[in-house]
Amino acid sequence: MSDLFDYLNEGISDLHPYEPGRSIEDVIAEYQPEKIVKLASNENPLGPSPKAVEALKIHNDDLHLYPDGDSKKLKSLIAKHESLDVSNIIIGNGSNEVLELAARAFLNKDTSALMSKHAFAVYKIVTQSNGSKIIEVPTIDWRHALNDFSNYIEDSTRVCFVANPNNPTGTYNSHDEFKSMMDSIPSSILVILDLAYFEYVTEQDYVRVNELLEKYSNLLVTKTFSKIQGLASLRIGYGLANKKMIEVLNKIRQPFNSNAIAQDAACLAILDHDHITKSIELNSEQRDYLTIKLNDMGMECIPSHGNFISFKGNFKAEKLFIDLMKEGVIVRPIALYDMPEFIRVTVGTKEENDYFLLKLSQVL
Ligand SMILES: *Cc1c(COP(=O)(O)O)cnc(C)c1O
Repeated sequence: MSDLFDYLNEGISDLHPYEPGRSIEDVIAEYQPEKIVKLASNENPLGPSPKAVEALKIHNDDLHLYPDGDSKKLKSLIAKHESLDVSNIIIGNGSNEVLELAARAFLNKDTSALMSKHAFAVYKIVTQSNGSKIIEVPTIDWRHALNDFSNYIEDSTRVCFVANPNNPTGTYNSHDEFKSMMDSIPSSILVILDLAYFEYVTEQDYVRVNELLEKYSNLLVTKTFSKIQGLASLRIGYGLANKKMIEVLNKIRQPFNSNAIAQDAACLAILDHDHITKSIELNSEQRDYLTIKLNDMGMECIPSHGNFISFKGNFKAEKLFIDLMKEGVIVRPIALYDMPEFIRVTVGTKEENDYFLLKLSQVL
């Protein structure tokens, strides 16, 4: 007799599910540490914008009403923020949903998708769950080798994923590097440029989004409210592309994919420039501090342009992860990214970072 699960769509049975960072509740239940510091999921240590939190109160009386399925207010604020038209914007239930919509629109069992080795795990999930083949391009010094991407394209390749900066390596690619890659691949391949950590990059030669969107009709840029905006729990992000691409993605999304609280919180967060500036300054300062301290302890850090640092040293990553967790410090082992020797730590406040460094020195 045949089994129901013999008929799963191609790719799904081989799929490795996404493994999120350990939650505070889990770790308290398992280890009862005296204090807990979570530096596992690249969340903003300053929390959400205090102004955005006000959105939670607005909806006390209207939770029975469907949200604005078109996210009009949020899209008009994003349009202003990005100097684009509302027709260039799609709102997602997190930016991950935009990645998934794009994959669903262009990938199937006869296609392939190109991505860098050690790239963000969700690209593999959305590719494989549509039955599509994964093609990985080796990195150079942990950076996306964008110059090499065109050499790996096959006839079946329909989508190319680029995280800039990448998670978990923290490396970034310059505007010129990205542009050369765009020029080297056919315009019939969709390129998704994932800018989840956009605000944290301080380099002058970083990507200039509007110039790229103007030039390339096969480009989809994604951004999120989960990282610097501190709204990860509400699940809201967006995609930017030409009108035709946005229309296609809108056709296949759920009609009410983003909820009213998330939309309003995002509207308030995007206007809170003060909170963003503070978050950028804290991150730059503490990223340097953590890098120096980790180097002093003999660790090797991959130079990071995000709000996290991946490092290796004289330790076994899986064991260090558990030893730190017993002490109440949650970090992330990244063996699933083919980096079994590395630990990824999110840049926290000075106090959180010092607690992590103290516990790290004790468990080593
Ligand atoms: C955290 C992260 C995201 C954010 O996903 P959301 O669905 O918007 O929370 C996207 N891309 C990368 C590379 C990330 O690290």
